[in-house]
Amino acid sequence: MATKLIFPGVHRLTLGAVNVFFIEDEAGPGLVLVDTGYAGSEQPILAAAQQLGRAPQDIRHLVLTHCHPDHAGSLAALKERTGAQAWMHPADAAVVRGQAAMVRSTTSPGLLNRVLYRLFIQHVPPFVPAASIEHEIADDAVLPLGGGLRVLHTPGHSAGHVALWLPRAGGLLFAGDACSHVGRLSLSIVYDDHAAGRRSLAKLAALNPPPAAICFGHGGELTGRGVAHFRQRWRAVD
Ligand SMILES: [Zn+2]
Ligand SMILES: [Zn+2]
Repeated sequence: MATKLIFPGVHRLTLGAVNVFFIEDEAGPGLVLVDTGYAGSEQPILAAAQQLGRAPQDIRHLVLTHCHPDHAGSLAALKERTGAQAWMHPADAAVVRGQAAMVRSTTSPGLLNRVLYRLFIQHVPPFVPAASIEHEIADDAVLPLGGGLRVLHTPGHSAGHVALWLPRAGGLLFAGDACSHVGRLSLSIVYDDHAAGRRSLAKLAALNPPPAAICFGHGGELTGRGVAHFRQRWRAVD
C-alpha cells in the first residue's frame, strides 16, 4: 500500500476508510505516526514505513487523536512491534488503558449519517486492544516531536479528542475526526457531545494564522481555498 506525500516530510497512508500519517522527525531518522488504524493494521503500516526506508524501530512515537477503534485499534500491536511510546489525551487514554468504557456516540443529523453509521460503525465492537500510554497530552502543549507538534484539545467527537498542529512550512493541521472530508467537508458521523464538537470546530476555524494545509482522519487534504472554506464553514456555531 503506497503512501502519499501530502506536506513536507508528512506521508498519508489510507487503510480502507481511515488515514494514518507518518511525520519525518527533523532531528533524525525517526518517524512519528499519527493514529494507527483498525486492529490488524500493523502489517500494512510497517510495510509502508519500509517503503519510506525505515525499520519498525524507526517508528519512535505514536500520537493518537482519539480512542476510537479505527484510530487506536492497532496501537497495542504497533507498540509491541516497534517499541514506540504512545501519546494521548488522558480522557481517551483511560479507554485505551481499559480503565473506562468507550462512550456510545450519537449520530449527526440527517439520513446519510444514519446510513453511514449502520454501514461503518454499528457493527464495530466499541473497544480496542488495551495498551499503555506513556505520555498524557494537554491542550496547548508543545510536544518534542516533529519540531514542536502542538496539541489542540478538541472535545466533542470524543471527550479526549485532539487536533495537532505541525509548525513546519506554514503549518499542517491534523483535524482527526473533529469533522470529515470524504468527498465534501461535513460533520463526523458521530459525536459524544455535539455542542462541544461544534465549539471545537469553531476553535479550529479561528486558528490565527491559518494552517497552510489540513488533513483528516477520513478523506483527503485541504489547501489554499479549501482551507478558507474550512474556516468559513465552521466559524459559526449554529
Ligand atoms: Zn472517531
Ligand atoms: Zn475515525
